[in-house]
Amino acid sequence: MVRKDAQPDRRKRQSAERAALLGHLPSVDECARELTGRAESRHLRRDYVIAVVRRALQKVRSGLLAAGHQPAPRRDEIAARVVALAAAALNDDWPGLRRVINATGVVLHTNLGRAALAEPAVSAIVEAARYPSNLEYDLERGARGDRDAAVEAELCALTGAEAATVVNNNAAAVLLALAGLARGREVVVSRGELIEIGGSFRLPEIMALSGAVMREVGTTNRTHPRDYAGAIGPETALLLKVHPSNFRVVGFSAAVGVAELVAIGRKHNVEVIEDLGSGALVATQSYGLGHEPTAAESIAAGAGLVSFSGDKLLGGPQAGLIVGKGALIERLRVHPLRRALRCDKLTLAALSATLRLYRRSADLNAALPTLAMLSRSADQLEADARRVLEQIAGRLDADFDLRVVPCLSQVGAGSLPAEEQPSRALRIGHRRLSPDELAAALRQSQPPVIGRVSADALLLDLRTVDDLDLLARALAAALERLGDKDAGAQRLPQGKERGK
Ligand SMILES: *Cc1c(COP(=O)(O)O)cnc(C)c1O
Repeated sequence: MVRKDAQPDRRKRQSAERAALLGHLPSVDECARELTGRAESRHLRRDYVIAVVRRALQKVRSGLLAAGHQPAPRRDEIAARVVALAAAALNDDWPGLRRVINATGVVLHTNLGRAALAEPAVSAIVEAARYPSNLEYDLERGARGDRDAAVEAELCALTGAEAATVVNNNAAAVLLALAGLARGREVVVSRGELIEIGGSFRLPEIMALSGAVMREVGTTNRTHPRDYAGAIGPETALLLKVHPSNFRVVGFSAAVGVAELVAIGRKHNVEVIEDLGSGALVATQSYGLGHEPTAAESIAAGAGLVSFSGDKLLGGPQAGLIVGKGALIERLRVHPLRRALRCDKLTLAALSATLRLYRRSADLNAALPTLAMLSRSADQLEADARRVLEQIAGRLDADFDLRVVPCLSQVGAGSLPAEEQPSRALRIGHRRLSPDELAAALRQSQPPVIGRVSADALLLDLRTVDDLDLLARALAAALERLGDKDAGAQRLPQGKERGK
């Protein structure tokens, strides 16, 4: 009985408190007036500032309501809180894409944007962005042209192909090739090559989407020439070879090379197309890596079409490059999907500038950031790591443990998955803070530093770092702040406020 009566009483009291609190909240206008004229909002649209204030007010309001029936703060105190919150939000107005420092040791990190572009490619983007260009205009004839013209000649020269076309990425290239050449017909592919790449590129799904019928042959670990030959019939449109990019079958395994596939195809008058994935244009062995097949090799072996990415080992912008026989490329060019999958002028400008470097630059490793990273020696990386260490060591307290350690870096983006290059990392440990806490703090630094968490420390691999001094500055500031916070928490009685 007592409970039953107490309940409505408490509710009444709560709703009265609630009404009182909401009654003396400052208005959006009041808070916004406080902000106008301040540096944070001087260059911003008024309606944007109002929207940010409104959000801040909502946040403070729900904070007060959640705090329950403690004595509500004074109105001017609440206003000050809202203004501070809004000002912080206006100050922290980062663009959607922010520069980060890649210290993961993964050279082509898909989550961090893969290849960084060479300077001439960056300039080409700026030029194409700022001015009109001959994107689809034939300057000789004074008539409509094709956007492939910007890159076709270079691609053919580099790969030995007759013709070339470019779409948005390699996933689009494979889709277009299958839709354009095999819709409603069969494509023979080895079960050992039915791959999934990160980000939901799954070969069977792309095949289904293209309208082609997948004809699987062989087994996961072994596929023989007779498997392909036995599957060819009147419905066969293509033989497809796919680079197993991000995995390796080792041990009792067999696959059919592209030259052998071409020989089988010729007997039955069926073309071979190959998804090369990374599609290096240089010999990867010269970087101490395994051999990554090149488009030129597949073309020389007689493949009808070869597709590969622009932003993997090639070191250019995101794009899907297709090179091969003129008649096949022409069928793709007139396909409606090509219009939907085409890439924009900024991409073409960057790709064209990158390909020109391949043909003209006397020192490719210096010109292309991706190749520059791959060619860094362990000795050089050791010196780099020491340089960063020296710049920050003196600024941190004794709870930090900083060392240069050997590590292994990776190519990434599904290129050469079994291969690692010896590298050097700055190893950051701390007496109390966990590697995850250190990593989180560095993600908040400016610019954010992305490292690799190992069992007992945070590793910053120097191979992929593009600016050592910037890294040192960002690190020193973030770690100093973290150290101060930790020391502050340590001074609290029983360290009650610590923990994650
Ligand atoms: C990476 C890769 C793709 C996808 O390329 P994107 O350019 O990322 O679309 C397709 N096939 C293979 C074999 C790959 O390695």
